[in-house]
Amino acid sequence: MSAPFEFKTLGFIGLGAMGKPMLTHLANKLPSESQIYVFDVAEKVVDEVCAQFPNRVHKASSARDVAQQVETIMTMVPEGAHVRSVYLDPRNGVCSTDISNKLLIDCSTIDTATSLAVKDHITQNFPAASFYDSPVSGGVVGAVKGTIAFFLGCAETDPNVDRLTHLMSLMGKRENIIPCGGPSLGLAAKLSNNYLSGIIAIACSEAFDMGMRSGLDPRTLAKVYAAGTAQNTICDRFCPVPDVYPEAPSSGGYKEGFKVQLMRKDFSLAVDMAKLVGSNNVLGEVGLATYDGASKDDRCRDLDSRVVYRYLGGQEDWQDHTNGS
Ligand code: NAD
Repeated sequence: MSAPFEFKTLGFIGLGAMGKPMLTHLANKLPSESQIYVFDVAEKVVDEVCAQFPNRVHKASSARDVAQQVETIMTMVPEGAHVRSVYLDPRNGVCSTDISNKLLIDCSTIDTATSLAVKDHITQNFPAASFYDSPVSGGVVGAVKGTIAFFLGCAETDPNVDRLTHLMSLMGKRENIIPCGGPSLGLAAKLSNNYLSGIIAIACSEAFDMGMRSGLDPRTLAKVYAAGTAQNTICDRFCPVPDVYPEAPSSGGYKEGFKVQLMRKDFSLAVDMAKLVGSNNVLGEVGLATYDGASKDDRCRDLDSRVVYRYLGGQEDWQDHTNGS
């Protein structure tokens, strides 16, 4: 099917580790007539992308300025406070100008309450505008490759779903663009996913450690988990023990991947969400304490979150202690 949506004007706010590669895909793939306006509080990155795409990507002076130039806006900023400021700042925010009929998509991973508060404000003041939460998964590597997943805060029957899917498929895998049911449910899905992934990484680190201390080779353990009931992608592709899976972040010194501080942030948001909705959450506090400690530990900070194996005392130089088999 040919693209039914043109996106003649598009705004992108927040050009960090994720936003910049996402914007780059849009600048490369949108029709040549499309004009893109960008804003970030860090001016350097704005200047860089404008220089990279002259006559295509334009510098805006604020989130409000972006909103005045475009019909569709994507935002990708760190936390709820930044999302609030980008949308609701009375002088420079997106909502400080008339945004009637505009399509607004927030891809940041934030708390559901902030997202709903922004949506409510927009619905009350600009009923003809549409706001969606649409957090992503797949990390910086996925953003660069254009393979990220989007968890959309809307129903499959939402009138904008095709339009949103078309836009997101320029930055991610179409089959991984998932409408999650309604407002803020994209975030609820993302937070429960990261909670599960974070808990598995801790359990996986502990399980490898106890097996290895008992005398098992981690490669044998990995085969056992894969063949047994413990099989999961953290034990396989993201194995926390170095040199079991060559492409896992651990095998590269935990350098590439999902930073432990981001896992701490998402985990904390998930634990708060569990409390808010009355979910019994016995692993939450201990998991949060573990990622909190790892985030503050100099040996782990800024590294892939599976460095929790190191934080928990797992042996990394196991190859030196095997007979080279
Ligand atoms: P980042 O810190 O690299 O980038 C955020 C950008 O937002 C920065 O350039 C910053 O200057 C800008 N910004 C902050 N406040 C702003 C404001 N008020 N107005 C305009 N720009 C502002 O963060 P990131 O890694 O790109 O993450 C962005 C979001 O995506 C976060 O919510 C994060 O949890 C989520 N996420 C990150 C990853 C990842 O692997 N990095 C993966 C999935 C989801």
